[in-house]
Amino acid sequence: MTIGPAAATRAPGDRLGRPLRDLRVSVTDRCNFRCVYCMPKEAFGKDYQFLERREILTFEEIARLARIFKRGGIQKIRLTGGEPLVRRNVERLIEMLAQIPDLDLTLTTNGSLLAKKARSLRDAGLKRVTVSLDSLDDRVFRRMNDVDFPVDKVLEGIEAAAAAGLSPVKINMVVKRGVNDNSMVPMARFFRGSGHILRFIEYMDVGHTNGWRMDDVVTAREIISMIDAEIPLEPLDPNYTGEVAERWRYRDGSGEIGVIASVTHAFCRDCTRTRLSTEGKLYTCLFATHGHDLRALLRGGATDEDIFEAIGAIWSKRTDRYSEIRSAHTAGLDKIEMSYIGG
Ligand code: SAM
Ligand code: SF4
Ligand code: SF4
Repeated sequence: MTIGPAAATRAPGDRLGRPLRDLRVSVTDRCNFRCVYCMPKEAFGKDYQFLERREILTFEEIARLARIFKRGGIQKIRLTGGEPLVRRNVERLIEMLAQIPDLDLTLTTNGSLLAKKARSLRDAGLKRVTVSLDSLDDRVFRRMNDVDFPVDKVLEGIEAAAAAGLSPVKINMVVKRGVNDNSMVPMARFFRGSGHILRFIEYMDVGHTNGWRMDDVVTAREIISMIDAEIPLEPLDPNYTGEVAERWRYRDGSGEIGVIASVTHAFCRDCTRTRLSTEGKLYTCLFATHGHDLRALLRGGATDEDIFEAIGAIWSKRTDRYSEIRSAHTAGLDKIEMSYIGG
């Protein structure tokens, strides 16, 4: 049995007919960066209370849930956080997940530890990696990560990932107006022809600490027209239904880029994603204000069948479509932070 329709049918999944296909797992709420749009220092300072060890899911608990989700139709798991590579021995979790057949296993990282870890991640069974990088300009990059981390180290990480076969490497760049919009064209030029796929992300109103304003969003339309003016582009068809990035290719054949327009072009209609927080709460939307406690089931003696049923019941009631109904009012809601819920 799967949760939601089989690929070829249109039987109902959640309340809007969307099947459950994609699970993001936040393996830690901690991070060695303080990106201004995600974990601003004013909110995530020295006194910030991160989760304690006993509160966070163990690797065994995550792997058990992953197997149950797989039975429910999940095809892909993305490990994220916080910064997933700061969780000690995350390779052991990857080894456990890599044993689940027919599962696309990937990870999103800030790249800071990738030069050191690319090979061991690959050996553990990771297939691909997405690296976040917001500028090639060292001054801009250091200002955005706000911990004075140099851009060269991330570039080394990207090369190490490609050399280890974690490819194609996807590069995610969040664009914030007046902060790094001037970095877009240099990024496009740098990664063109490299085989890595650069994706521009509209700055979103995740969580409630980043002080998001619509004026700070550089829209997908603006992004495409700025790149197109320098390096001509043409649209590409999506790889599959529900792909979040809109694809464009350079007219001279030197590669493709993507734009994730979650603010100006909502893709809730095809959203098959769910998120498991570091302490085992299930969130059916990135912008959710509450989650469902799976850890209580795991630690309270529930059987796999009980948990499977519980997940199915949660999914069948899902009505989330935050990006379609975003407004000045919703931006101010007390939403869960992205570093905790899993980006
Ligand atoms: N630490 C890892 C990293 O930075 O890649 C994984 C977690 S991070 C929360 C996942 C992704 O969310 C990153 O690509 C990051 O740039 C993106 N992100 C964080 N805050 C965002 C925001 N306000 N708007 C858009 N994307 C955001
Ligand atoms: Fe850390 Fe990633 Fe958030 Fe930056 S975007 S603060 S690297 S979790
Ligand atoms: Fe999915 Fe929620 Fe994002 Fe819409 S806003 S695409 S429902 S995670």
